[in-house]
Amino acid sequence: MHVRTLVRGFTAALAATFALAGGQAAAAPAAPATEDRALAPRILTYDASGAAEFRAAVDRGAAIWNESVDAVELRPVAAGQRANIRILADNGWPRAYTYSLGNGVVYMGRQAVDQGYNTVRISSHELGHILGLPDRKPGPCSSLMSGSSAGVACTNPYPNAAEKAEVESDFGGAFAWPAGAPRNVMTVD
Ligand SMILES: [Zn+2]
Repeated sequence: MHVRTLVRGFTAALAATFALAGGQAAAAPAAPATEDRALAPRILTYDASGAAEFRAAVDRGAAIWNESVDAVELRPVAAGQRANIRILADNGWPRAYTYSLGNGVVYMGRQAVDQGYNTVRISSHELGHILGLPDRKPGPCSSLMSGSSAGVACTNPYPNAAEKAEVESDFGGAFAWPAGAPRNVMTVD
């Protein structure tokens, strides 16, 4: 039921956009009809063009979130568009600046990578911050937000059940934290 409704809403939106554009390809699909909006995932775009050697790890981290939650979907931004999330590479420690829920900048810091930390776990963890999750340290490897406290040997890039539920709650459901609501949190690691 859930999936079918989503597909119907998305197809209708695409059809409407196509008609409005006079049959030509449009830049972005129209908003879903009101009745479908509560079920449609929130689309957040990310720009990994500045992620250098970590681009594949960033794409994998985004895909893991897409596999893990229904309420939000991360998509690569179209060329020339402004993304919700920018991902950059630098020589510092990995960190995230969450300006508001779903919006911010991630740094794929080489300092942690050089120490042996897993790049996909790093990208998934930092995207978790942008999706509203705080660090949960110290913590076990089964927790994504335990970050570096789980040790270099930990390569788990998947959020646990509680972490998934928190993101679902923030982005979906009756009491969703509104996307764009101020957070202004800087999280190192
Ligand atoms: Zn962190």
